[in-house]
Amino acid sequence: MARRGAIGKGMGMHRGIGVAGIAGRMGRLVAEEALAAATKVTGGIDRPGAETPAGIAVLPDMAALAAISDVVVEFTHASSVQAHARAIAASQCAWVLGTTGLSPEDEAAVAEAAKHVAVVHAPNFSPGVNLVLALAEKMAAALPAETYDAEIVEMHHRQKVDAPSGTAVGMGRAVAKGRGVNLADVTESGRDGHTGARKTGAIGFAALRGGQVVGEHTLIFAAGTEHITLTHRAFDRRAFATGAVRAALWVQGRQPGLYSMMDVLGMT
Ligand code: NAD
Repeated sequence: MARRGAIGKGMGMHRGIGVAGIAGRMGRLVAEEALAAATKVTGGIDRPGAETPAGIAVLPDMAALAAISDVVVEFTHASSVQAHARAIAASQCAWVLGTTGLSPEDEAAVAEAAKHVAVVHAPNFSPGVNLVLALAEKMAAALPAETYDAEIVEMHHRQKVDAPSGTAVGMGRAVAKGRGVNLADVTESGRDGHTGARKTGAIGFAALRGGQVVGEHTLIFAAGTEHITLTHRAFDRRAFATGAVRAALWVQGRQPGLYSMMDVLGMT
């Protein structure tokens, strides 16, 4: 649950935005979009030896980056999340986390950090996807699980390392919430071989990988008499970078708490 906080001290961006994963596809775009929004980029961190964009200071670690930033925007790898959450919790710096593929332990570390600083954690920063998530919850509440089978199909570029995508899981969570169930109890993922018949109320996931697809997600409610599909296609990952910078400008100066992109967009 997101906690709404008043905008507190430090409302103005004094130091700027730090970028974790500065050499990555998303990190580079976040730095560009921050500069386009006339916001200072304090510096970045990445793996040793990574080729970072010219003109941006490279810091040794998250603690050093957080010490000089109002907000750190992070798109790295799930294996970094717990250590980074600890460094953020010990700082005065807000955190916008876009990394996907988090384990329950990673999620717990993020929630712990959010007790100390303001954190926006979103599997997808595009406004369109967040609207789709809101619609998915409403549709799931209206369409009985006994009649309407929910299936989620996603496709991404060949470099993506986690499946199903964070956004697909977000869609699954929205459907589960609309139905008043726990996603983990009803997930059917990666079907292969003799799986047996589909369980009533299951939420199914299928992941396709190939080419340079930025992100495609379709939610299908399939009944015997009709199908309803909701599709989102992202053509340019800049949509996520713009949203992440918007979240960074929104979150700095807020009370500690775990916020979603829905909070940033005023959709809650
Ligand atoms: P990428 O591989 O191009 O970039 C990741 C960067 O993080 C790399 O440069 C890597 O060296 C760096 N990195 C890894 N571990 C690090 C660490 N411990 N410290 C510092 N840097 C580290 O990947 P990408 O396409 O930019 O995606 C990154 C993550 O963001 C993935 O989890 C992806 O699924 C997610 N993503 C989320 C959204 C969203 O809207 N929330 C959108 C796109 C991608």
